[in-house]
Amino acid sequence: MSDEALIVLENVHKWFGPLHVLDDVNLSVAKGEVVVVIGPSGSGKSTLCRAINRLEPINSGTITFDGRPLPAEGRALARLRSEVGMVFQSFNLFAHKTILQNVMIGPIKVRKEKSDMVRERAMSLLDRVGIANQAEKYPAQLSGGQQQRVAIARALAMQPKALLFDEPTSALDPEMVGEVLDVMTSLAREGMTMVVVTHEMGFARHAAKRVVFMADGQLVEQAPPAEFFANPKSDRAKDFLSKIL
Ligand code: ADP
Ligand code: MG
Repeated sequence: MSDEALIVLENVHKWFGPLHVLDDVNLSVAKGEVVVVIGPSGSGKSTLCRAINRLEPINSGTITFDGRPLPAEGRALARLRSEVGMVFQSFNLFAHKTILQNVMIGPIKVRKEKSDMVRERAMSLLDRVGIANQAEKYPAQLSGGQQQRVAIARALAMQPKALLFDEPTSALDPEMVGEVLDVMTSLAREGMTMVVVTHEMGFARHAAKRVVFMADGQLVEQAPPAEFFANPKSDRAKDFLSKIL
């Protein structure tokens, strides 16, 4: 792991009309670092993730990825989106494509890669997330946990430099949460740069290098997980933790 910054937000502000959803956010994520973002509903966690791959434009401040300001449009934006993979709460797989086709489609359509090479990479990614034997099935034939693992394989197929996860296990039945967190934990160990919005405090404790607590659009405090959970400093973090732990 290096200390070189991959994702840097400086004085970022975002309003939805009168609502100040990102209020002077400063955050730097190093290459290979895993940052878990927690906070109450409506605090701006999803907006923060979406701002990083420019699904949401910001009103002021700067965001840089791998040393460059986020591009606003065109091919540079398409490249950014392929370098910053995103995994959502809802898996958003194409229902009428097989699992394998779902994983192959990004590299072929967006990056114009040759299908033979992509197929090989897609199969090895499906193997890595433990579902190579489901490759010819359709999403509806898989459990939620399996579908979310396909969504992770699909993001990895673009060979991203970072992955953003927005509550990836919130829509899953409890018995399927572990299999998705296991895949995420192994990615973290392998050095993937990850920003993870989650309510899974076990994952935060074990896989995160840093926990970031947001409330009302502000990044209220950040600390290594052991320190944050043992000794939250702000009243808002204490209050939040008392409700969820
Ligand atoms: P979180 O993910 O922490 O629950 P969000 O980033 O989704 O928070 O939302 C932050 C605030 O912005 C919430 O009050 C939400 O209702 C509001 N919001 C989110 N997206 C939009 C939008 N497209 N238009 C208007 N308000 C929005
Ligand atoms: Mg959210």
